[in-house]
Amino acid sequence: MARTQMKIAVIGTGYVGLVSGTCFAEWGNNVVCMDKNAQKIAGLRQGRMPIYEPGLDDLVKRNYAAGRLDFTCDLAEAVKGAAIVFIAVGTPTRAGHEDADLSFVYMAARELASLIADDTVVVVKSTVPVGTGDVVQRIIGSVRKADTFSIASNPEFLREGVAVSDFLAPDRVVIGVEDERAGKRLIELYESMVTLQNTPVIITMRRTAELIKYAANAFLATKITFINELADLCEQVGSNVSDLALGMGLDKRIGASFLTAGPGYGGSCFPKDTLALLRTAEDYGVTLGIVEETVAANDARKRRMALKVAEAFGGDIDGLTIAVLGLTFKPDTDDMRDAPSVPLIEALQRMGGRIRAYDPVGIENAAKVLDGVDFFEDPYECAWNADAAVIVTEWETIKKIDLVQLKHHLRQPVLIDLRNALDADAAEELGFHISAVGRPAST
Ligand code: NAD
Repeated sequence: MARTQMKIAVIGTGYVGLVSGTCFAEWGNNVVCMDKNAQKIAGLRQGRMPIYEPGLDDLVKRNYAAGRLDFTCDLAEAVKGAAIVFIAVGTPTRAGHEDADLSFVYMAARELASLIADDTVVVVKSTVPVGTGDVVQRIIGSVRKADTFSIASNPEFLREGVAVSDFLAPDRVVIGVEDERAGKRLIELYESMVTLQNTPVIITMRRTAELIKYAANAFLATKITFINELADLCEQVGSNVSDLALGMGLDKRIGASFLTAGPGYGGSCFPKDTLALLRTAEDYGVTLGIVEETVAANDARKRRMALKVAEAFGGDIDGLTIAVLGLTFKPDTDDMRDAPSVPLIEALQRMGGRIRAYDPVGIENAAKVLDGVDFFEDPYECAWNADAAVIVTEWETIKKIDLVQLKHHLRQPVLIDLRNALDADAAEELGFHISAVGRPAST
């Protein structure tokens, strides 16, 4: 793309920072990704990816080899001469609370303050509660003159598993600015990409940009929860939620995406962002009743999934072996943060179940958060001698599982498909007792 090259620094080299930085480099910019985690940076410099994200490996290696992308633990080196500094550090739920932990963002701001050059635009890409940009402005403003820097918000909407293509071809770019310098700089950065693809750009106040991200995630979480509740009703009245979702989703006002019933949403964003939005609303004396209900319904649903497994055995799984197929919160990622598989497995273990588990890439991260689980890299090996197989993540390898082989490996032909990933009719014909989501269980 023909455009001005910029020097860009990205602070925080995780799912968002690494993907963003690499894609900025792919557009021809000179990018330095900085992280405090020395192991991560050393690995990246040797071509080892710290996360599993399809397509990222090649892109990182190509841009690193071309000299457009570099990695460092040295903040001063990263921000030297940078026209834009992105903050892409984590904003997890604060331990023991429900609001966002902004300590990483504020620490990055404090550390940056004396190191950035005059005229730098600092952009908060992390998902942060409304007003965080104002605090970052004050932190940096306590060290340098107000007219020597700008603070902008540019929330990120990429989805793990398709992060690179999402970043390179987003549905929209949201830019929140309070001054002309920041607006011009960010438009310049995104200009060729948005022109080429006709991407809508929303330029708004910084506080509105911050809130857009939370509103979007809360809406998506609500949509998932809506179809999950309808799935419960389908099970009781003998309807099929997949057909129901199709019939609803073809209405353009509704849209087909995020109408797939399952075990409840998880991942690194929806659970923490819905909670953080509720805390913001509470701080300002506003009730977001729909979001409150969504959070409560989703928590209850995740807990109920273990009962669904137990129901297949008349409510008692004590001493039984359960093969859990899929551990990550969704396919094509190694991310286990708030994955529905974790509360499910823990509840099954409390009921006396012994757990064998398969995941194509999530085992390393799963082993950090789960105890007493035998892990397998092959789904059939995982199913061997188990009393039931439970589908928790709809990986391609799981969707394509050979039902005949699966039945042969299991001790009992019991299948609980929490993602409706398999052909339930075919499974029933083979003699499986199948319990899926949003359709009556086989008898
Ligand atoms: P992550 O945990 O994968 O990465 C954060 C990185 O920041 C870590 O490598 C950590 O070592 C580093 N870090 C923390 N403090 C630092 C500091 N002071 N200096 C340098 N590095 C520091 O997090 P993530 O999933 O990339 O999320 C980052 C932000 O983006 C969050 O606010 C998240 O809500 C938001 N977001 C995430 C996604 C997603 O799908 N993961 C999508 C959109 C937005």
